[in-house]
Amino acid sequence: MKNIMIVLISLILTGSVFPDELNVVTTYPYIASIVEQIGKDKVNVFALANGEWDPHTIIPKPSFIAKLRKADILILNGAQLEIGWLPPLMRQANNSKIQVGTPGILDLSKYVELIEVPTAISRAQGDVHPDGNPHFHLDFKNIPKISTAIAHKLLEIDPVNKATYEQNNNAFLEKFYQKEKEWTAALEKLRGTKVIEYHKIYDYLLQRVGFQLVGTIEPVPGISPTSRHIESLEKIISSNDVKYILQDVYHPDDASKYLSSKHKIKMIIIPHDIGSVSNTNNIFEFFDEIVRRLIDD
Ligand SMILES: [Zn+2]
Repeated sequence: MKNIMIVLISLILTGSVFPDELNVVTTYPYIASIVEQIGKDKVNVFALANGEWDPHTIIPKPSFIAKLRKADILILNGAQLEIGWLPPLMRQANNSKIQVGTPGILDLSKYVELIEVPTAISRAQGDVHPDGNPHFHLDFKNIPKISTAIAHKLLEIDPVNKATYEQNNNAFLEKFYQKEKEWTAALEKLRGTKVIEYHKIYDYLLQRVGFQLVGTIEPVPGISPTSRHIESLEKIISSNDVKYILQDVYHPDDASKYLSSKHKIKMIIIPHDIGSVSNTNNIFEFFDEIVRRLIDD
């Protein structure tokens, strides 16, 4: 009896009252949403970043270290999106389960095809996309690859629930492919539309939809616009029929608003992650909302 009490107390103190649940930490909310769909009641998921923040520059909180310390699995976007903020947190958490090269870490960028991979290292000019564009989750066709990679990781770390993870992923894929058909059909009428964006965050989406990106408000990813760069954008606008300016929720929108009002181009706020705007509580709602904002003309 005494032994049982000691075990119970130590379980409560270490927070593992439900030792069956895997503690999964993800860097971004979109990853957490997919983990919830695949892991359901077998996992306890926590996303470090908030969907309203710049994914490149997360301000760390002390609670992040505690979460990383207890993690069984860490799932990250990769392609250097977290390079500016995650490594020091991982060092401080010092959790042997989620060190680079161990099975407890999953880098999703390894499962998709990156676009805009530079031929020479351009980080010297301040480019925050040195490995190629890291915002691949904005292409909904990458989500099934991501969910399957997550399912394989969960069943590798927790083989007892292998069948559950496989079933959940199959159910997720079935629903996702159905939604994907709807999104593709709804966006078809926008093929060929010319757009400008602030940061090169929507490029995978633009490629999927068949938008034509004619300019970015940032001269280089991560570098704020100069007045000379805005002038060069205005020249592009004068010789192109630009329909939309796509603005994210975390960069200043003064340049977009200026170009929008001066040149009569509609500015649309597009969420870049779950929670960027309202009605984006999971991965399905996230794409529903993006599509709704793009076709709502
Ligand atoms: Zn970026």
